[in-house]
Amino acid sequence: MFYGLSKSRLMAFQQCPKRLWLYVHRHELQEFSEETEQRFQIGFQVGDIARSLHPDGILIEGENLVETLELTRQALAEHPDRPLFEATFQRDNVLVRADVLLPEAGGYRLREVKASTKVKGEHYADCAIQAWVIGGSVKVTGVELAHVDNTFVYPGGDHYQGLFKPEALDADLSNLLPLVPDWVAQARAVLAGTEPAITHGDQCSTPYDCPFQHYCTRDQSQIEYPLHCLPYLQGERLQGLIDLGIEDVRHIPDDYALTENQARVARVIKSGQAELDLAIQMIMSEFPYPRYYLDFETTQVAVPIWPGTRPYQQLLLQWSCHVENAAYELMHHAFLAQGFDDPRRAFAEKLINTLGDTGPVFVYNKAFEATRLSELAELFPDLKAAIEAIIMRIVDLLPLTRQYYCHPDMKGRWSIKAVLPTIAPELAYDDLEIGDGGAAMGAWREIYHPDTADSRRAKLYADLAEYCALDTQALVRLAAFLGGA
Ligand code: SF4
Repeated sequence: MFYGLSKSRLMAFQQCPKRLWLYVHRHELQEFSEETEQRFQIGFQVGDIARSLHPDGILIEGENLVETLELTRQALAEHPDRPLFEATFQRDNVLVRADVLLPEAGGYRLREVKASTKVKGEHYADCAIQAWVIGGSVKVTGVELAHVDNTFVYPGGDHYQGLFKPEALDADLSNLLPLVPDWVAQARAVLAGTEPAITHGDQCSTPYDCPFQHYCTRDQSQIEYPLHCLPYLQGERLQGLIDLGIEDVRHIPDDYALTENQARVARVIKSGQAELDLAIQMIMSEFPYPRYYLDFETTQVAVPIWPGTRPYQQLLLQWSCHVENAAYELMHHAFLAQGFDDPRRAFAEKLINTLGDTGPVFVYNKAFEATRLSELAELFPDLKAAIEAIIMRIVDLLPLTRQYYCHPDMKGRWSIKAVLPTIAPELAYDDLEIGDGGAAMGAWREIYHPDTADSRRAKLYADLAEYCALDTQALVRLAAFLGGA
């Protein structure tokens, strides 16, 4: 059988021949991670903006491949002086679609558009495949990769000139172009054979998360406490265990040399008993009331939304705060950005009002909240003193939890999602539509996407409110647990 190929298939082959084989022969086994889905979403927005920068460009859109190829041929013949978007080419049954083809003297410059903020190693093969295929139909006079310039500051008014930084790749591709026919032949040979015997390794997440990881780790996932439960286990320590044929933490000999924290996690897992150092109860009892439990949600977008912001800047959109005026007397406050205007001023003002002047402000992983607050203080000089006073009151529950508590079910992790089921199993993130910070970021991106329907937005707002409120409820429960309640 003769197998048709495409740029994405050849890139899958470059990452791992088995990935290509599974993609073609066992397509149904694919499972995309949330992160991968979000990368796709960001990529679409970037592509839209890249096209908008060439208002005379022609978008090639056919009903099917034959029509798309024909429309490309027509556009090249009838409009040789206009940029083309998604122009489609085939060579030796390898199909590619070019993000942007820019006409210039003697041919076309290929511009590949990426949402990344720099040229990455995998981009060279990506562009070489395209240049080789397109070069079979038109003269490619240059190849460049336009990545997002993260120093660009959006001036507003849909002026995105300067968002992309094109970098010429011609010199780098000269060695790769002659290799493309070999990649094509090798990929076809793999597809004609049986499933390659390749085991899980570094290639599974580099340069992309492979969507077949569930399939390829189906045996390993039966190990209840795999070695990666031990924090920072690597190098000789890890290799020594692999050499001993050990895959489960419970089988590590007691006298095997581990760091203090690794030994603690191993001890807890082997015994099946949680360890709580009661010294934490005294520490917690000294925090006065009112106590505040605070959590922020942000998103990052490649294409800035508000004037004065940069690509991938952390955008503050939401906070939740439980206020405990006396033990177990709780009030909930929240802020959720609405509409399309910059919400940061309203975010800061309502937060200052809610947090008052005194009382500890508990967070989980202080660096994030403190950094975002510092950014707000710089942005609004008139609020600087009030915001800096809040920063001074922050108490980070993460290092306290890490130091004083360890449970076997946490499997060596101290994220709030790992800790919460061991102290308050009834507060489950699994039941929520949005179950972690990454999903919340994706939900915010979807809210700001112009194609999102109002009904969908309303649902996302409700899900985000529920998720963020649970985050601070979790902090309340954790503080009570550490305090001995
Ligand atoms: S999970 Fe890893 S081994 Fe399996 S196909 Fe993907 S890259 Fe290859």
